[in-house]
Amino acid sequence: MNQIKIGAFISERRRAKGWTQSQLAEKLEITDKAISKWETGRSMPDLSLFMPLCTLLEVTLNELFAGECIAEEKLKEKADEVLMDVITNWLGHDKWEAKECDTATQNVLEVENVSKLYETENNSVLAVNDVSFQIPHGSFVGIMGASGSGKTTLLNLIATIDKPTNGTIRISGQNIVDIPDEDTAEFRRRHLGFVFQEYNLLETLTIYENIALALTIKEVSKESIRPMIQSLSEKLDISAILDKFPYEVSGGQRQRCACARAIVVNPDIILADEPTGALDSHAARQLLDTLAMLCREYNATILMVTHDVMAASYCDSILFMKDGEIKTALNREQESKHTFFADILKKIEWIEGEGHDVLEVVNP
Ligand code: ADP
Ligand code: MG
Repeated sequence: MNQIKIGAFISERRRAKGWTQSQLAEKLEITDKAISKWETGRSMPDLSLFMPLCTLLEVTLNELFAGECIAEEKLKEKADEVLMDVITNWLGHDKWEAKECDTATQNVLEVENVSKLYETENNSVLAVNDVSFQIPHGSFVGIMGASGSGKTTLLNLIATIDKPTNGTIRISGQNIVDIPDEDTAEFRRRHLGFVFQEYNLLETLTIYENIALALTIKEVSKESIRPMIQSLSEKLDISAILDKFPYEVSGGQRQRCACARAIVVNPDIILADEPTGALDSHAARQLLDTLAMLCREYNATILMVTHDVMAASYCDSILFMKDGEIKTALNREQESKHTFFADILKKIEWIEGEGHDVLEVVNP
């Protein structure tokens, strides 16, 4: 962020409009002195003045931050550059505070009689069929089920990516089904963390910047960003790769970075869809240890979809889906991962057996 360059740019655009400093000041309802300070690079406009200033000077916010007009073909490249500048230099607020723990006794997630019907021209699929369950604060819950059983659909409904045909979904008490479409992105940023199979990191930002970006969106003060990322990345064993770009690190490291990015904003719940799907078994175990650690040490609440029994054995409890319904659940209690693993296998066998019976009835 080059304050002098920005000042010169403001000055240039003002002159192009044929306005004096006083005339611009009048339009913005501020003093002439303020304009003079910006133009000589001695200060920057207040956040609240950016948009009106951009409108008056007919430039985009990116152009204002870059201090130059940006050609169409450079838009993407410049946007990332400017964004990072803003993140590291500027957008500091002091609004971040640790979440109060009155949520301890409350369910973070309450799903009540939720169904999702997909209708196409010649068929309809009841992908989720009257599902109800709750997830208490601080727990690590798995959803298991064969391919096509409705796991991703259910997760997308909870993630506000899709809307249920019926039912209510509450996250920290708020019914998310009522959130208007245009507000869902904001809701996701403020309340949810995501760890998906396809690593959803921004390729033009370093690992550090990817994590910082999440914090900036949450309006964390710039002084607290670095220490927060540093302490967390030590925990997740990614401190050595913070300055690398996502394509320079392994799949496991990328997923742990995604975990860091998810947890660092202190979301109500972290949603993970087959997070180990693209990892080898060593990296998968490391990631699962990380997720379990986030629950224990950061009091995170995690809902993880998986069809992998090994992954599921890290959870505190598991919901089993089949044909869009939750057929049964399993709690880990005090069992070891090993015993839990065996229990999960038995449960799956039982569910498949039940499915077999149903099939026989339908197809005698
Ligand atoms: P899973 O994640 O357990 O593999 P999905 O939730 O992806 O299952 O799919 C559940 C069922 O819903 C499947 O029969 C699938 O074909 C159907 N389905 C999923 N998404 C759509 C969609 N957008 N339109 C129509 N059908 C869909
Ligand atoms: Mg799926």
